[in-house]
Amino acid sequence: VEWSTVTVVDPATGEELAAYPEHGPAEIEAALAAADAAFRAWRSRPVAERAQLLDAVARVLRERADNLARRITAEMGKPLAEARFEVEKCASACAYFAEAGPAALADETIDAGPGRSIVTYEPLGVIFAVMPWNFPLWQVIRFAGPAILAGNTALLKHAPNVSGTALALEDVFRAAGAPAGVLTSLIVAPPNVPRVSADLIADPRVAAVTLTGSDRAGAFVAAEAGRALKKSVLELGGSDPFVVLADADLDVAVHNAVKGRLMCAGQTCIAPKRFLVDATIVREFECRMVDALEMVRVGDPREEGTQLGPLARLDILETLERQVAETVEQGAVLRTGGRRLDRPGYYFPPTVLTGVRPGMTAFTDETFGPVVAITPFADEDEAVALANDTRYGLGATVWSTDTERAHAVARRIESGAVSVNTLVASDPRLPFGGIKRSGYGRELAAVGAREFTNIRTYKLA
Ligand code: NAP
Repeated sequence: VEWSTVTVVDPATGEELAAYPEHGPAEIEAALAAADAAFRAWRSRPVAERAQLLDAVARVLRERADNLARRITAEMGKPLAEARFEVEKCASACAYFAEAGPAALADETIDAGPGRSIVTYEPLGVIFAVMPWNFPLWQVIRFAGPAILAGNTALLKHAPNVSGTALALEDVFRAAGAPAGVLTSLIVAPPNVPRVSADLIADPRVAAVTLTGSDRAGAFVAAEAGRALKKSVLELGGSDPFVVLADADLDVAVHNAVKGRLMCAGQTCIAPKRFLVDATIVREFECRMVDALEMVRVGDPREEGTQLGPLARLDILETLERQVAETVEQGAVLRTGGRRLDRPGYYFPPTVLTGVRPGMTAFTDETFGPVVAITPFADEDEAVALANDTRYGLGATVWSTDTERAHAVARRIESGAVSVNTLVASDPRLPFGGIKRSGYGRELAAVGAREFTNIRTYKLA
């Protein structure tokens, strides 16, 4: 086994930004021991005190917003305005859970015959969290805010390309007054990740595991959790349908299609990826999408006004380019974009594929980039069948001026979230998660706060 450094490359230039020394076995053991010790003390603090920590985290995030946003942009390439939005979203979610979380975790008395019956939500212990780079702060906060409020502690294995952000977040918790061990970032080089993860999951001091990322990584972690009989929560990929009915307001639909598909350069699990459009309006929709996407400002994510920055890594660019080329070979029509831009960095232009059918790569596989795959349908039954013809089930949207009709279509689509005439977005007040190969378990809202708790029954006769 080689213990080395983790190198972070700026995706806007392809140049090395920084190298972080990997945590070796002794450091990982020390982090685990500290997280375990911290749990014992942290769980016995009153929930109101734990809520104060989240309020302090919100404050420090806001104080450091500019620095954090710049680091996110440098490491994974999203436009600076989006990075700022992400930091603020994290701060407001922490403030939200500080205020609303304690009620979700309060004891409940239930009338169940003689004596007193009480249900409590008690923390589980150290939670091992494996996180991706696309929303490097938000993915962590979404899990860690509620989990830490509930009295757990967190060991974070972040994606290597956002190692600086991972360490900056640990420092935010420290500055907010979190006791040592409440949230610790482990720096692990990719070749060692499966083994280190398996060892941590098997360790008796780790109570549960959560992973946000691909279904491949999720299946690995869940298998290890199964072997150790530990709880797992998985937030995996998606290939969300965007269903445009014949009576949709096309201005609204096109505006949101562009916005949803381009956020984070298309590298969002809940981005619309398969655009299913009524055959009577599909030509119009295609032309409007091509026109709108050709107007998009692609460029340096540090420059104000940039709408589309680079992809986060070279391998993501290469995968996307292959997916588009395969889909064209399979008979789809490339209307714009389709090949990497001739400039340094990992830039891929907005791309439109029309005549996409089930079985083609862009329909079957998740495309993690600014690619719009358009498929016409003849009627609602076909729209629903196409929407559900995927192994994923994260989000979905339906667009129509007849909200009731769209709602009826939405009910027939298999997903963890579905929206009518608005994009799917995570919101601390609402549960978030998937079905099928998009994962299981829920984050956010009261169910999210309870996800890493022992839902315990007391009977006092
Ligand atoms: P990925 O390879 O699954 O990476 C995600 C995280 O999992 C990284 O920290 C990665 O670390 C780790 N990982 C990979 N293999 C592992 C293993 N065998 N054991 C333990 N950890 C492992 O995903 P990616 O390709 O970088 O990111 C894009 C994917 O994530 C997409 O499929 C996307 O849809 C999904 N995603 C889902 C959500 C959601 O909320 N549902 C959100 C964001 C992204 P290393 O890189 O060091 O291997």
